[in-house]
Amino acid sequence: MTCFIDTHAHLDAREFDADRTSVHQRARAAGVACCVIPAVEAANFDTVRLLAHAQQDAYALGIHPLYTPQATESHLTQLDAGLTAHRDDPRLVAVGEIGLDGFVPEVNTPNALAKQQLFYKAQLKLAQQHQLPVILHVRRSADLLLKGLRDTPVVGGIAHAFNGSLQQAQAFIALGFKLGFGGALTYDRALQLRRLATELPLSAIVLETDAPDIPPHWRYTTAERRGAGEPQGRNEPAELPRIAQVLAELRGISLDALAQATHINARQALPRLQ
Ligand SMILES: [Zn+2]
Repeated sequence: MTCFIDTHAHLDAREFDADRTSVHQRARAAGVACCVIPAVEAANFDTVRLLAHAQQDAYALGIHPLYTPQATESHLTQLDAGLTAHRDDPRLVAVGEIGLDGFVPEVNTPNALAKQQLFYKAQLKLAQQHQLPVILHVRRSADLLLKGLRDTPVVGGIAHAFNGSLQQAQAFIALGFKLGFGGALTYDRALQLRRLATELPLSAIVLETDAPDIPPHWRYTTAERRGAGEPQGRNEPAELPRIAQVLAELRGISLDALAQATHINARQALPRLQ
């Protein structure tokens, strides 16, 4: 069976509290052999680690840029301690999810942006010290992220849910990164993103769902239906093969060829992935 790696799935999110085991079983039944579960704050470091072990998945430890307003210096100490304590854990594959968000207003006041930068730089240093790749949150922040990586080089990683320019993509690739693509590709109107995912070398691409977020179009609830009380559709790792099928068609290759290539790419980006 064609086998996939979901390089970004927040399986600890409360959206999965009611049916986490079925979500896991559906993923495996669909051919998703492994999910990478990134942490978002110090409070969920243990949760993602235990979940990854319980489900035979992988995990990353880090502080997400949208969680920096409530983060403190001691959370960086906790991150350092966690990376040290679990350095021989083969399921710990990266520092993440870290990065910068240039979109959400609350984290873009001058003070909040400075705090995002402080946590981004400190976590790059930790990734460097622990010789781990990073999983990056990129939203209207590619150039600032690239600057950080040039100042504090790391062994590589993944720019997740990538939606920048071809030039920015090439800059990440030159620094040893892969670009993560997922549900956003499934929208016909995502012309620029689709062109990017078609133009990039296949060796630069990894697949992800970002579950429970970024639902593919067949799971998306329109604003009108939400207005009528329906919740936004939930994404889950079992959707990955169908998302991949869209990319395979855009690139004119077989689903199998895409699965094999992205599997290799994911292991290059995150060498500890089994
Ligand atoms: Zn994420």
